Amino acid sequence: MRQLIVGNWKMHGLGPALAELLTLRHALYARPPLADVLVCPPATLIARAVAAASNAFSIGGQDCHAEPSGAFTGDISAEMLKDAGAGAVIVGHSERRHDHGESDAMVAAKARAAWRARLMPVICIGETEAERAGGEALDVVARQIAGSVPEEAVASATVLAYEPVWAIGTGRTPTTAEIAQMHAHIRALLTARLGGEAGGVRILYGGSVKPGNAGEILALPDVDGALVGGASLKASDFLAIIEAAAARS
Ligand code: PEP
Repeated sequence: MRQLIVGNWKMHGLGPALAELLTLRHALYARPPLADVLVCPPATLIARAVAAASNAFSIGGQDCHAEPSGAFTGDISAEMLKDAGAGAVIVGHSERRHDHGESDAMVAAKARAAWRARLMPVICIGETEAERAGGEALDVVARQIAGSVPEEAVASATVLAYEPVWAIGTGRTPTTAEIAQMHAHIRALLTARLGGEAGGVRILYGGSVKPGNAGEILALPDVDGALVGGASLKASDFLAIIEAAAARS
């Protein structure tokens, strides 16, 4: 399966940041990537990012509300993201789970909203540092999958991202053995939950992926791409990670 490299810009980026997307577009036109590429800028930039990408890569949102419309001041529905040109949406990022109190059930509702709007959800899961230290990482992820991944998920429209919370934005990563163990665990859990569909669901690793470590992470079995925060803000770094994905193909 083709790997997927997702850039999550979080709450970074004003108009001039679109220059990075133009650089990305020119580089990907010149050398078509062997991986799929998705950039999730702030919602304010989505429509302009779609124009800048010009089909060289996809654009997604970073969150959506579960309802299609309504009295939800400040929220954005999956349908609105679609209307702005998005093709995907991140749901259940740890910064949403922890800073906005999102439960597994809310994340599952957002994944369903994404499908309703014909967007591909990137469903995020991952343990905290205390949970890993307490030997609970595998159980936490199992619980999150049971609660956040709807049973009707189909492979072509579903992506999972394993992001240990303690690795996000910290420069720290699990060992490659720990990543491989967790991804195999996730694949087994998905198989139990989704049956034959599970083999085709892309499982991304996220958490301090950089040009320097992308190669070894993306070469691991059951690692089908990466969710990249900080290193997606600069086209040159992001391109180096995309190249690392291509090396495995
Ligand atoms: C993220 O935002 O999902 C992320 C993984 O961030 P970073 O790559 O900066 O750790």
